[in-house]
Amino acid sequence: SIFHLKMSNSQKQKPGPHVALLPSSGMGHLTPFLRFAVSLAQEDVQVTLITTHPTISHAESQTLSHFFSNFPHITPKQLNLLPLKNAGSDNSEDPFYLKYEAIRQSSPLLKPLLSSLSPPLSALVTDMSLASTVIPVTQSLSLPNYILFTSSAQMLTLFVSFHTIVGSKAPNDSDKTEDFFQTPGLQPIPKSWIPPPLLSDTPNLLKTQIIENGKKMIQSDGILINTFQTIEQDSLGALNDGKVVNGLPRVIPIGPFPPLHIEKSQSIAWLDDQPDGSVLYVSFGSRTAMSREQIRELGDGLERSGCMFLWVVKERKVDREDEGELGEVMGDGFIERVKGKGLVVKNWVNQEEVISHKAVGGFLSHCGWNSVSEAMWNGVPILAWPQHGDQKMNAFVVDRIGLGLWVEEWGWGGGEVVVKGEEIGEKVRDIMGNELVKVGARQVREEARRAVGDGGGSKKGLIEVIEVWKKSL
Ligand code: UDP
Ligand code: UDP
Repeated sequence: SIFHLKMSNSQKQKPGPHVALLPSSGMGHLTPFLRFAVSLAQEDVQVTLITTHPTISHAESQTLSHFFSNFPHITPKQLNLLPLKNAGSDNSEDPFYLKYEAIRQSSPLLKPLLSSLSPPLSALVTDMSLASTVIPVTQSLSLPNYILFTSSAQMLTLFVSFHTIVGSKAPNDSDKTEDFFQTPGLQPIPKSWIPPPLLSDTPNLLKTQIIENGKKMIQSDGILINTFQTIEQDSLGALNDGKVVNGLPRVIPIGPFPPLHIEKSQSIAWLDDQPDGSVLYVSFGSRTAMSREQIRELGDGLERSGCMFLWVVKERKVDREDEGELGEVMGDGFIERVKGKGLVVKNWVNQEEVISHKAVGGFLSHCGWNSVSEAMWNGVPILAWPQHGDQKMNAFVVDRIGLGLWVEEWGWGGGEVVVKGEEIGEKVRDIMGNELVKVGARQVREEARRAVGDGGGSKKGLIEVIEVWKKSL
């Protein structure tokens, strides 16, 4: 607790190392940084959290203000972003990638900020999407730079090696490899799992950023990652044996980060009235819009499944713009028809709280890595429906470790195919009734908690890094 932290700090003779953290934009990047900040503070590290302004989503600004009032011993430091320049010609870019770019372009402002902090820093920990523009700054200050990779180790293998693969041969060079990417040292990855912008010949921000960041990460002092050994042994092993990229710094699994239980926004009382394990929670994260056509098929599927559900509907990527009336979005008296069976909401929910509720027995998820790690933490089976980015790589992990099922044929979201209600209903019934997956999910939960508990592999990794920082004092 906060009280405990204050006590142990004031009793100590010598203050711990001072470390600054720099998250990127979007809740999927901010959330793991907040959890990491608290884990460090619990080990007597002094933490300065650099926040970039303005934030893109309402969720981030709300969360930050709640966070700093709940954790007053973590010091906020604001970085005001420069206006974005030359970020590609077309405006079809994802607004979140544009925001990464704005932070990247503002990196030079970090130099005076970092050198003004007191006591002097032992390290800066940066989000992977900022690596190539931030590492030169820390190098110029002779400050150790660590990366916090907020996705799976499976994704990290692609992230750090993509620049070596791309351009090494034309996409259709050889018949045998045409449908696969050979990541060095690992099983080939089907091309259908690769984020589509990476395969595109049209220049785009995601591709440029992954190439530049992936290349530069070799110059960081260590890569911390929100995963754990038991679920991603192969990827972590290959990365640390130098099989993926030669000379990569050590990759240290320190996850899954436990939830923070920051102040609750309104709880969902409806859940309290539902039988244990009866409710499917449906959410595609904080930044994924679904077409109205697909929303209606999904509604049809949930209704057909006969299962109870709690569904967070999103029509726009950025929450401030998501204004459609729920009744109109769903159409045709859907909300009335499912009354008593399902609850549909359009606002932000406290997912940590929802997913740990005893009524929730399944999660239809896009497989953002934070959603996956929250499902792991609570042993909730996932029905994986990846929509974009790293999500197919994560869905593969979910399926492989027995945490859930992935229907690969559903493809990416966003109109590649419209998945029909009938099929969705069938898979929802599958996941809610699948005893094998329930057992698998419960086992992952045990392993997750063991990893970050005393003596666990991820806890040891964290302590080791802190010991390195202490030596610089
Ligand atoms: N989240 C939440 N309420 C919502 C939507 C998302 O609390 O209504 C949280 C979720 O618990 C997770 C984060 O926002 O911690 C989203 O990150 P994730 O990696 O799952 O997906 P992204 O939103 O980045 O696609
Ligand atoms: N909200 C949001 N994202 C968040 C937190 C809140 O969109 O991360 C919305 C929420 O749906 C509500 C409003 O902001 O409409 C107020 O938020 P909250 O529930 O946190 O209430 P407060 O504690 O600020 O009174």
